Amino acid sequence: TEARELLLSRIRDVPDYPQPGVVFKDITPLLADPAAFTVLTDELAQLCVRHGATKIVGLEARGFILAAPVAIRAGLGFIPVRKAGKLPGATLKQAYDLEYGSAEIEVHAEDLCAGDRVMVIDDVLATGGTAEASLHLVRRAGAEVAGVAVLMELGFLGGRARLEPALEGAPLDAV
Ligand code: IMP
Repeated sequence: TEARELLLSRIRDVPDYPQPGVVFKDITPLLADPAAFTVLTDELAQLCVRHGATKIVGLEARGFILAAPVAIRAGLGFIPVRKAGKLPGATLKQAYDLEYGSAEIEVHAEDLCAGDRVMVIDDVLATGGTAEASLHLVRRAGAEVAGVAVLMELGFLGGRARLEPALEGAPLDAV
């Protein structure tokens, strides 16, 4: 579609970042273009409404930038999922494996509860590890997963396959 073309044209490929051999998808040109940022916000907000979300989770850090305006647009609350050690209140923590080592993400336990239907938003689905861990957090908090929505999916990294079991039938959409 036309919207999709506009959005993809505003993502910059940065070779050899953050390491040699990696091509980083940089969304800052899209964020700097108000027409493109608005289109992206509207597309993601439509997905949230279509999937019956009642809360929006954004994944640190670029997921925050997208999820906050989406939450406003959809009329829903925004909940940050952060890297370990950043949230001041009582949290649930979830560890997950990286290529080398592991990482931990957290959410404020009181931000999600039974009856919530949560849409998880991030910029890029790479290996799927971060999104997978976030779905575990959502369910451990007692909430339901409405879906996962990202701007783009790096298909060759197999994120969709990794995420599949944790989705438990919920949709994964790339704009
Ligand atoms: P994962 O491998 O799917 O867990 O990706 C981890 C995180 O890295 C996600 O939150 C993405 O935002 C980020 N990420 C991975 N690759 C890229 C990229 O090429 N551009 C922007 N973000 C990326």
